[in-house]
Amino acid sequence: MRRTGFISDESYFWHDNGSGALYLSSGGYVQADVYAENPETKRRFKNLVEISGLMKKLNQIEPRPASVKEVKFYHTEAYINKVKELSKIGFGDAGELALVGKGSYEIALLSAGGALTAVEAVMNGTVDNAYALTRPPGHHAESDLGMGFCLFNNVAIAAKYARNVLGLKRVLIVDWDVHHGNGTESAFYDDPNVLFISLHQEQLYPAGRGKAEHTGKGEGIGKTINIPLPAGTGNAGYMHAFYEIVGPVTDQFKPELILISAGQDPSMFDPLGRMMVRADGFREMTRFMMNLADKHCNGRLVACHEGGYSSGYVPFCSLAIVEELCGHRTDVEDPFAEAYMELPINELYDIHKQYVAIVKEIQSAYWQF
Ligand SMILES: [Zn+2]
Repeated sequence: MRRTGFISDESYFWHDNGSGALYLSSGGYVQADVYAENPETKRRFKNLVEISGLMKKLNQIEPRPASVKEVKFYHTEAYINKVKELSKIGFGDAGELALVGKGSYEIALLSAGGALTAVEAVMNGTVDNAYALTRPPGHHAESDLGMGFCLFNNVAIAAKYARNVLGLKRVLIVDWDVHHGNGTESAFYDDPNVLFISLHQEQLYPAGRGKAEHTGKGEGIGKTINIPLPAGTGNAGYMHAFYEIVGPVTDQFKPELILISAGQDPSMFDPLGRMMVRADGFREMTRFMMNLADKHCNGRLVACHEGGYSSGYVPFCSLAIVEELCGHRTDVEDPFAEAYMELPINELYDIHKQYVAIVKEIQSAYWQF
């Protein structure tokens, strides 16, 4: 068993995307549906942590809000003020599909603060590792633009905090959300001390981002690793990328802290992705990253919740991650695993090897494989 921190707050579920449901789920032609980014996936995950008894094995930690000074580690003052103003008004878009409701500013500060709280708890030894159930998510947020449901970039702010305030030399961010972590990439594109690895469905969102040939610039060249994968990639294809690229690169980088942008939208039921990862795939990716954290940084690992839009399946995927982090298996079984276990999507195909080989070839200018 490990001491695992679990950071969440009721207000995370109150962030309100407002009447965007009319436009973004129905186009105004049929009855407004639930907005894709809504509290249900995350609330149901938290409920499952409780009902399974797992919460009793975790150290629940109350998040603190991030200060404006901390948010400014990445975001511009003008952008922060824009989110604040829209939040006061009660509705508006902070950029591109980054809707703000009444009070979203304070909730977004607390979401970024959840990531900071998790990093603090792991770094001061209160816990061995931590899961921050943050909402709104963060990885698409650019310094001056909200994007893809993200207001403040929780993980980027946490990594900057680890560097600027806690004085860590090297931080690794692994982003397995099915979409590209463009905002996080931008935050560290020229930074040699933060290695950013994104595994994502190729050419999904945002357009033009996350290409294998995007490897960083200036001093940060080689410290951005994009691993685009073809639609339909399941457990085996993902793990192939972890073994072939994430493992060897992490061994060479030797991080002092590992952050995971844990979006569970590569799952096989996600409405906003076309991947086929099962809950046990998220367990395996977590185990893989924990082994690397044990090897290089005393197990120090923080996972921050990003996307994931299947309210029926995200709870099981996320539970598997937290079970693995703390080393306690509940008796909850993935109710969908059996039906999907025998499907050919679970195999490793040549196309996966080809995609990974392309990334390795590009990155071999900077890393040994
Ligand atoms: Zn996503």
